[in-house]
Amino acid sequence: MPTKSSIHTKKMILLYTLIILFFILIALPGCNSPEAPSEDGDPGQQDGKAAEAAATETSAAGELDQNGNTGTGERENQVQEQENTAADDPLLWEGKFSPNELGEIMILMYHEIGHPEGEWQRTPDNFRRDLETLYVEGYRLVSLNDVVRGEIDIPAGTSPVVLTFDDANRGNFNYLEQNGTMALDPDCAVAILEDFYAENPDFGLAATFYIYYPNPFRQPALIEEKLNYLVDKGFDIGNHTYGHANLSRISPTEIQRELALHQKHTEQYIPGYKVRSLALPYGASPREHAGLLLEGSYEGTSYSNEAVLLVGANPAPSPFHHNFNPARLPRIRASEMNTAGVGMYDWLDVFEANPQRRYVSDGNPNTIAVPESRLDSLDKGRTHNKEIIIILEQQESEDRSQKLE
Ligand SMILES: [Zn+2]
Repeated sequence: MPTKSSIHTKKMILLYTLIILFFILIALPGCNSPEAPSEDGDPGQQDGKAAEAAATETSAAGELDQNGNTGTGERENQVQEQENTAADDPLLWEGKFSPNELGEIMILMYHEIGHPEGEWQRTPDNFRRDLETLYVEGYRLVSLNDVVRGEIDIPAGTSPVVLTFDDANRGNFNYLEQNGTMALDPDCAVAILEDFYAENPDFGLAATFYIYYPNPFRQPALIEEKLNYLVDKGFDIGNHTYGHANLSRISPTEIQRELALHQKHTEQYIPGYKVRSLALPYGASPREHAGLLLEGSYEGTSYSNEAVLLVGANPAPSPFHHNFNPARLPRIRASEMNTAGVGMYDWLDVFEANPQRRYVSDGNPNTIAVPESRLDSLDKGRTHNKEIIIILEQQESEDRSQKLE
């Protein structure tokens, strides 16, 4: 079983140190030029495709065979320093979770937290179990904005996961009146996240709440307090249109009105706040006017979205992968009911069986760790001037040692 013990932490610190050492060794001109690109089986964005089908497809593309041995190692990564310190030598990692910053990232879609469990409603206990599962499986919370900007800062060997909540139902953020004062409902999403973070600070605390108006979180007297509370705690407010509009059925002017009014009202509650992403209500996109989802204006209020979230059924590509398209990011339903094989737990199983598909951090937000076999999937226009670290996969290293013998 995976561990969150201090032993693990010490190993992470050791790994980080070794990465820094290696970074220094290879920080010479020309060391990051990709070489020998090989077949890449990344699925990219394929809305509506079943997880199993996607996994099979990946296997058919040769990725599983190529790295077939990585699924059976220990969870803890082990790094071995290369004796040869030539500038273009890749870094060798062993173990299941060697760094792969071109791997896929789950953007989880929640709606209401409450009773009973439903297709669009998670009970508080099930939500707690989701967080515990993600934590134990080595996932760490990051904000959507950080993913989009390629600023994923989590420990080596862990994977980013993004939480999103649509519709601003009361169970997302609720106050209860107790003895004449208002107290945070311990069973609402915000309280559950904060409590989990207090017990497991290395899990992180991040989520985007895609709200709509006029009454987000359904306690009208507390809107201003709640929105400012969220931002103060580091959560993000996302655009879900002003009135939960189906953007595929309205005119270009109405699209801009829906998105700009959201920005305007949010800024009235939180002075200076810029909403930076949009979750499409019903997943409906205006095909001919999709550009208006990113930028537009209405009656003097302009808006700008760096990312647009679909409903989707797949993990998102890495922000450094050539398939990454922030204007169409798929999400995974955080549900166990009628998931059609593409719910959160289905994908956790896929990543468990195919760890080479998952985004795994090298622990350094200023570098991009890329398995040697995937270099051709790196979008060189999206590296944000970060250093590229080439990771030698275990199978390849074994092949090489055999050749040397
Ligand atoms: Zn909605």
